[in-house]
Order: sequence, then C-alpha cells, then structure tokens
Amino acid sequence: MATTRCSSCYSYGHNKRGCPVLKERAAIAAAKPAADRSYSESRAMERVAEFKQSAANRSCSYCGDQKHNIAGCNIRKADIVTATDSLVTWRKTFVEQAKNCGFGIGAVIKHNHYSTTDGYARDDAKKNNSPADNFHYRLVAKFVTENLNYWNKNGEDVFQGKTFSEFGINSRYSHDSCYIPDEIRRSVGMRDGYYITLIVSPVSSIGIDEAKFVSKFECQQEIQTLFNKKDRKKKCFSRSELIYNGTLSNGTT
Ligand SMILES: [Zn+2]
Ligand SMILES: [Zn+2]
Repeated sequence: MATTRCSSCYSYGHNKRGCPVLKERAAIAAAKPAADRSYSESRAMERVAEFKQSAANRSCSYCGDQKHNIAGCNIRKADIVTATDSLVTWRKTFVEQAKNCGFGIGAVIKHNHYSTTDGYARDDAKKNNSPADNFHYRLVAKFVTENLNYWNKNGEDVFQGKTFSEFGINSRYSHDSCYIPDEIRRSVGMRDGYYITLIVSPVSSIGIDEAKFVSKFECQQEIQTLFNKKDRKKKCFSRSELIYNGTLSNGTT
C-alpha cells in the first residue's frame, strides 16, 4: 500500500512540505540571531521559505524575504558583486605569487600524490629506471581556470601536469590533475596540502592571458555560472550553501 513518506524526516503520513520536524527546526532557527545559526538551521529556514514560496509564489527563494522574488533580490545582486570583487582580488594575488616563484606553463613540478598516468610514484621511478625518490615529475601544460579561485581550499585540480616519457603518446590519461604548488598555497589562503607539490624548474612567465584571467568581466561570468548552477533537480545553489562552500567569503578567513 502506498503511504506518504517524508523525504525530510523519513517518517510516514506527511510530505516534506508539511513536515513538522522541519518546521520546528526552522522556527527555532528563526528565533536565533542570524550569526548563531548553523548551516543546517539556515538551510531549514530556506527550505520552509521555498515551500511557502511555491505555495504562495511570492517570496524570494534566495533570501526568504516575502516582499520580492529572486529576480528582484538585492541581497543576491550584492552577493554576486562581493563574490566577483573577491575573485578579482584573489586572482591578482595568485598571479603575483605565481610570478614570484616561477609557476607557469612550461614549468616543471614534482608531486607525490597518486598519478592517473603512472600510479604511485615509486612505480613511476622504477619504470623510468630513475632513482626512487618517490616523486612524479610533470610539465605544467594547462591551467584549469575554473578551479583557480579562493573557495577551492585544497587547491585541487588547478593544472594539468603532463608526463615527459608519454607526452603526446597514447596513454589512458594524458595528464595528472595537479594541486597548487606548496610554494604559494599559504599566500593565497589555501590549506597546507596532504601531498607535496614543488616547483623544480621555474619559468619567467605564467603563460596565460593575465588581463583576461583577472578581469572583472571574466570573474563575473564565473560567479554568475556558480550562482545559477543547478544543484539538485531544478534548485539553484542556495545562499547558505554559497556561504558554506566559501564562495561568499573573501578568501582570507
Ligand atoms: Zn517529515
Ligand atoms: Zn531575496
């Protein structure tokens, strides 16, 4: 027999729109000052507001305000400006730091994380009959610009590191997805890496279109994409999610 089951609290007899557990959590959260709310509490408030909106269709699905909808949301507009400015600032710092230590296209780095091309570094060293120093040596071939931002706190997958022996030759994967080098992690607000990535042979130029990379236009495009990004089903990223994943911080906290 089909019985209504709540996708929020998993109990039977009501759906998420009528969920008393969610409503209570939202009410408790609403009674607190905004700064004291946890992520899940803010999220509960937003969900309740979203359900109300779909019923009445007159509250903002971004901030929960009843007097406007998402298209007229000034908080959202301001958040996009803030996030764009922060990205421009962060990228300028990144370019400066990259230049300081010679990080750019054509530089040689060594890393000791798992290689999609060669497996563990020990095996790579054995195969190439080189001294087993437990590092993979890679040529910086391409930046993954959409990952060069302040909310990528682990500095993951920011450039493609090509192998030398297999450069251009058929291999299952043509490159390793590499991390921001250790030389610049701290100065661009990233956590220390679990693995090591070091610049072995620096270059004098970063090798990308710098002006474009740090331009307000380019940065705004990327921010806009993120704010419009479809998360689950038809829902876009919510404000609390954007704060939680760091997009709305300035990268220095
Ligand atoms: Zn429920
Ligand atoms: Zn709003």
